[in-house]
Parts: sequence; structure tokens; C-alpha cells
Amino acid sequence: MSEQEFKRALGYANSAFDLLKRSGIPPYPQFYELLYTYSTGVNPSLNARINTIFRNGETPSSDLAETLYNEFLKSHVSDRMTEVSERMHARIQAVHEAIDLAMTTAHIYSGSLQAATGVLGGEISMTSIKALAEQLLVETRSMQETNWSLEQKLHASREDIAGLQRDLDDVRRESMLDPLTKIANRKSFDEGLAQAIAEAQVGETPLSLMIVDIDHFKSFNDTYGHQTGDQVLRLVAMTLKSNIKGKDLAARYGGEEFVAILPSTDLAGAVIVAENVRRAIQAKELLKRSTNEKLGRITASFGVAMFQKTDNATSLIERADRCLYGAKHAGRNRVVSEDELSQVLAKITADVSAA
Ligand code: GH3
Ligand code: MG
Ligand code: MG
Repeated sequence: MSEQEFKRALGYANSAFDLLKRSGIPPYPQFYELLYTYSTGVNPSLNARINTIFRNGETPSSDLAETLYNEFLKSHVSDRMTEVSERMHARIQAVHEAIDLAMTTAHIYSGSLQAATGVLGGEISMTSIKALAEQLLVETRSMQETNWSLEQKLHASREDIAGLQRDLDDVRRESMLDPLTKIANRKSFDEGLAQAIAEAQVGETPLSLMIVDIDHFKSFNDTYGHQTGDQVLRLVAMTLKSNIKGKDLAARYGGEEFVAILPSTDLAGAVIVAENVRRAIQAKELLKRSTNEKLGRITASFGVAMFQKTDNATSLIERADRCLYGAKHAGRNRVVSEDELSQVLAKITADVSAA
């Protein structure tokens, strides 16, 4: 975690504590998470709801906090996972029961056959043979019925399990995507980066990382509203995605920050990609969907770093994040790579002392 990121998280944590104290909500983990999320502003609908509550002077009781938690934060993916797993469990249970029944019936049947063999071995009258044959016929029918029923159950299970498999695949896919922008989420990014690092180490190929942060996005939201802000996040995500290719991975890192993993790409190559994305974002003229009102343009700042032998995921992210910080302080709407960082920071310091 970079120092900048640490400070940012600490700021959110302090403000969450403050809200808990002021509202008299017990600082249980889920309530803390609720107000931490509120402080980050990443969930605009949650924020809008909490603001209304504060505005109306409602008492934010722990009951209310729990309702909000269930509505906004509880993972729907994990709910669906639980549902699929329960259905799977019930189906397996039913198959087990059917198999048990079939085995018991087969066991009894085999007992009857053995008894019949014994009887047939001795002296036996025609009437007894007939009776024996009838008894075996009845038991064979019952055995057939049990087998038929097992077959039906297995058949139904096979279809059901195929359906469950599809549901499970959907849930898995969903759990890797950011619900708002439909590009990879933080979890997929973490996994993707770990894998890309492993591959870069094995193949001794270059690997670069780019971090993007929308400029002055808070004021954009304040001016045009969170829903329009959300549209912009989708647009930026799509712009990023359409400017990378092949094995590259674009993800939403959080809030209004995005990342791209660029395997087989050196620093100079990554700067070119970042410049393309930067220009493409700047080139988009924003229109409000509902009214066609022109909203001007937005820009974004970029930090680009390349994986070094001594790096791990955290140190690579940290360096890219420092470059992003440099880009912000150098005036935003620009790409700063780690090659230029010291120069950029020196210039900022010089400008500050000159002022
Ligand atoms: P800077 O140029 O320094 O990055 O300024 P900024 O305003 O973009 O940065 P800051 O970190 O102060 O604010 C980020 C804002 O992004 C806060 C919040 O309003 C907005 N934001 C974060 N996540 C979402 C989201 O999911 N939807 C919307 N609409 N806005 C979001
Ligand atoms: Mg930010
Ligand atoms: Mg920003």
C-alpha cells in the first residue's frame, strides 16, 4: 500500500468512526463497513440514501443500519452462491436416497434368488415351482420398478446438475466483474496481476502497469449528479478497454480509479497505450442521455510503471500510484511514467518554492 493510499484509507476510517460516534450506532464491523463505504463515496445510491436520512433528522438506529447493510452491501453474489449450493446439496441428497433404495431392493432380490436356488436344488412339486416362479416374477417387477425410478431420478438430476453448473458459471463470472462498468473488478485485477507477474518472471518478458484516475471527478458529480457520474465511469471503462488488446486486462480499481495490466509491454510501450487512452477520454464530448445537454469533457491522469525483478504486486502498484500522484500534481490530464517521475517531482518542488 502506498503512503498516499494509506492516508486515503485512514481518512475514510476516521470519518466512518466519527459518523458512528455522532449517530450513536454501535461500531460493529458491518456498520463500520457501511459508513466507511459512505465516506469513500463509491456507492452513490447508498450515499444518497444516508444523506436523506441525515437531512430528515431520522435517528440512524442499528436496525436501520442493518437494513441498509442488507440492501446495499451484502453480497448478492454470495447469496446466489448459497442458493446454488443448497440446490446442489438437495439434488445430491435425492440421488443418494434413490441409490440407497435401489441397493436395498437389489439386496432383497438377490436374497430371494439365493433362496429360490436352494429350493430348486431339492425335491420340488410342480405347484411349488409355479408358486416360486410367481413370487420371483413379482419381485423382478418390483426390482424393475425401482430401477426405472432410479433411472428417472438420475436423468432428472443430470439435467438439473447441468443447469446448476450453468448458474455456478454465471455466478463465478459475475463475481469477477464490476457491476457498474462490467469490466474486471478489483478481485480479478489482483488475480490477474499475480498471474501476469508469475508469467513475466518465468518468461523473462516485460510487464507494465497503468493506473488511471479521473480528474476532478468529485466536482463533476457535484455538478451533474451521481447518475451522470456513473455514466462517465462506464464510458471511461469502455474507452480503456477498447484501447488495450490481447492479454491486457482492464479493471476498475475502486471509485473513479482504473488499472490496466499490460503483459509483454515495456515502459515506453505502456506510455503509448496510456497516451492513447488519455487522448481518447479527452476527445469524448459528454452528453446527458435524458436531455442531450452538453456536459463538456473530462480528463484523466495516468501513472505507468514497469515490473522489476525485485518487485511484487504491491511494490509495482505503489510505484505506478506514485507516478499517478506526480501526474496529478503536475497539473492532471497527463501520463507520468516512472522514468520521468523524479524530474516531474523536482519541477513541482521548484515551482512551489518559486511561488
Ligand atoms: P482528483 O483530480 O485529484 O482525482 O480529484 P477527484 O475529485 O477526482 O478526487 P477525489 O478522490 O477527491 O474524489 C473522487 C470522487 O469520485 C468522489 C466521488 O464523488 C466519485 N466517485 C467515486 N466512486 C464513484 C461512483 O461509483 N460513482 C460516481 N458517480 N462517483 C464516484
Ligand atoms: Mg481517486
Ligand atoms: Mg480523481
